[in-house]
Amino acid sequence: MIMHKKLTLSIFGLLACLFTGCAVNPITGEEELMFYPETKDVAIGRKYAPEVEKHMGGKIANETLQAYIDSIGQKIARVSHRPDLEYHFVALDHKSLNALALPGGYIFITKGLLEKLETEAQLAGILAHETSHVVARDTSVALSRAQAMDLFVAAMAVSGATPAGAVKMAHLTRVFLGLRYSRKDEREADLGGLDYMVRARYNPQGMVETMQILQEEDTRRPIEFFSTHPSPHNRIAYLTEAIQTKYSRVARLKVGEEDYRSAVLQYLTNNKKPKTAPVEP
Ligand SMILES: [Zn+2]
Repeated sequence: MIMHKKLTLSIFGLLACLFTGCAVNPITGEEELMFYPETKDVAIGRKYAPEVEKHMGGKIANETLQAYIDSIGQKIARVSHRPDLEYHFVALDHKSLNALALPGGYIFITKGLLEKLETEAQLAGILAHETSHVVARDTSVALSRAQAMDLFVAAMAVSGATPAGAVKMAHLTRVFLGLRYSRKDEREADLGGLDYMVRARYNPQGMVETMQILQEEDTRRPIEFFSTHPSPHNRIAYLTEAIQTKYSRVARLKVGEEDYRSAVLQYLTNNKKPKTAPVEP
């Protein structure tokens, strides 16, 4: 029965691939349903990155901080399964605690999340997780799964200047911002990201700490990251197990508490906007 079901599923998969298209996930080697070719990834990312920035408060106006975030991301990207892509790691001036990826190598992290992190290895953990989503083309797969294809094709048509095009673009931006990946994709992004961290010489414990920080924050208020990501409970468990069984001598790898403090926290603390308007005397 199970065999029969599997056979039916694989025949369905094969037919789906024949009629629509499939892509091989470089992390797992599995074929996945994909409605559009890899060459479109960069075009989609390039088109929607400015929209996502606009929706999320724009870039943090500090070139040194941006260069630092990007340099950590580039170290991760260079050891990934798709090192040839042009990656962009951008810090957004938004108070939410969030990180997201667009197809083609556009990766964002919010100021709210940066403020909660404490080390470079934790930042590398978030960027490595998002890089894995890009490598596995999870955004593209999720879009295909979400049956957003009609909207997507319409939005890809060069109609951005027309009012209708602008509406579609705004809609698609919201789709990107609220996109949920499957639990399987998330697990693969966690474990794939963990691998990239170690290859880039970062202590993988940073990813576990990030989950703990987010979990702690989530007890105070629902945080945005978990509106699109699974809860961290079992993620901490499988990440800890992977670190113990797959990697040795992790203590020698970089944590970077001081680097993170001077490159990120110092700037964010000094440029905190006052919570209330100053009272006139
Ligand atoms: Zn994710």
